[in-house]
Amino acid sequence: MSENHHQTVSDTLYGDRLREECGVFGIFGHPDAAALTTLGLHALQHRGQEAAGIVSFDGKNFFAERRLGLVSDHFTKANVLDQLQGTSAVGHVRYSTTGETVLRNVQPLFADLTGGGFAVAHNGNLTNALTLRDELVKQGAIFQSTSDTETILQLVARSKRVNTLSRFTDALFQIEGAYALVVMTNKKLIGARDPLGIRPLVIGELDGAYILASETCALDIIGAKFVREVENGEIVIITEDGLESVKPFPPMEPRPCIFEYIYFARPDSTVGGKSVYECRKAFGRQLAAESHVDADVVIPVPDSGVPAAIGYGEASGVPFELGIIRNHYVGRTFIEPQQSIRAFSVKLKHNANRIHVAGKRIILIDDSIVRGTTSVKIVQMMRDAGATEVHMRIGAPPITHPDFYGIDTPDQDALLAAQNSLDEMCAHIGADSLAFLSVDGLYQAMGYPEGRDPKRPQFTDHCFTGDYPTGLTDQQGDEKLHQLSLLAEQG
Ligand code: AMP
Repeated sequence: MSENHHQTVSDTLYGDRLREECGVFGIFGHPDAAALTTLGLHALQHRGQEAAGIVSFDGKNFFAERRLGLVSDHFTKANVLDQLQGTSAVGHVRYSTTGETVLRNVQPLFADLTGGGFAVAHNGNLTNALTLRDELVKQGAIFQSTSDTETILQLVARSKRVNTLSRFTDALFQIEGAYALVVMTNKKLIGARDPLGIRPLVIGELDGAYILASETCALDIIGAKFVREVENGEIVIITEDGLESVKPFPPMEPRPCIFEYIYFARPDSTVGGKSVYECRKAFGRQLAAESHVDADVVIPVPDSGVPAAIGYGEASGVPFELGIIRNHYVGRTFIEPQQSIRAFSVKLKHNANRIHVAGKRIILIDDSIVRGTTSVKIVQMMRDAGATEVHMRIGAPPITHPDFYGIDTPDQDALLAAQNSLDEMCAHIGADSLAFLSVDGLYQAMGYPEGRDPKRPQFTDHCFTGDYPTGLTDQQGDEKLHQLSLLAEQG
């Protein structure tokens, strides 16, 4: 490893924390396992566009293919799919913000353990991975990647327990943070969700074969039936004998991540029994109830602002029009990790539909503001197209805190709402007015789950409240390092 390379790895680990957005998929006992996994990953592509991987098993051998780029760029090709023999497969799509996008970080990760091969695909982010990694490295562990998922692999490998499931469970007891995991061994497909169920994972069935996937849209694409969600803190074990469930953790109330509903999940998915699309429409209706302003037209920032804008239009009676047209050959705004390219890509992605903008007072709806880059560009685009007033309305509360559980958000100092008042934000984006959905309004729009205390929080809403529901061991480690370096500077 070159000096330079070494620098990158340690920067990745200790400078800019690892943050990953991902989608996972697994299937057990189907003759078209790899092809179905490819389709499932394609449906989950919005969860990660930098890399994709599939590991399959044919009863004897494991086969792995990992590629940088989109699923459809690589995995539809016969020469790649043909390599992925077998009736079981696990797949992963990944988007990581960290400097390194190298193949060794592309999942599923695979290792030959005492009990045989072990492939793991992870959506979520561990909040004590670096701390554990430090300890493991001191004990002699050799890490191949910079991914926090490898920490899980190392913990399973080192567990003194006797069988794969108990070794895996042993590892889960040591990790902290968010995970939806799909594991494939030579006998089993295993799914696991963290004790709070922060990241989603559903069970499906096709032709008698069980499937695990991040979202229901991955079941729809292959015509699979939705069976149920994997519950928070649950491990499901799929073998030739069927599906078995264990719940090794003390029971906790689930706290799925609210951001899945706001932005991350596909609107045609059902998460926690709720249609993501309908939730977003409800956010829009609530937004109209909270902060309506007189205007001629409601315009969404496509695609993510569309359902909320439909809801807003319905509730306010202001006509909804597609005043911005999106070029579908450009991925999500965040795809380019550098700020300079990200700003440019907004122009690549959207164009004003002048006929519905010129001479109009418009209410512009987006699902969220993170850095503010999109809003600045779009407001300007509306003015350039002749809008007389631009009122920005956001279908989520202000994002004031970074995410550590697998949604890409920048450090707090780059979050527009963490650094500015509402008036400052409005001035920054150049709108005539700006309003966000309130946190109470968000909960109201989500509805309160039956049988639960109708009080917050039923979701993980730290991005808006700073209420992180798990330990943040690595952050505390960072804080300690920061204090030490300050002391060193003073000394
Ligand atoms: P920004 O331009 O930094 O304010 O980002 C806000 C835009 O990015 C909105 O249009 C959202 O649809 C989208 N967005 C919000 N959160 C994320 C995320 N975690 N990853 C990718 N895109 C996001």
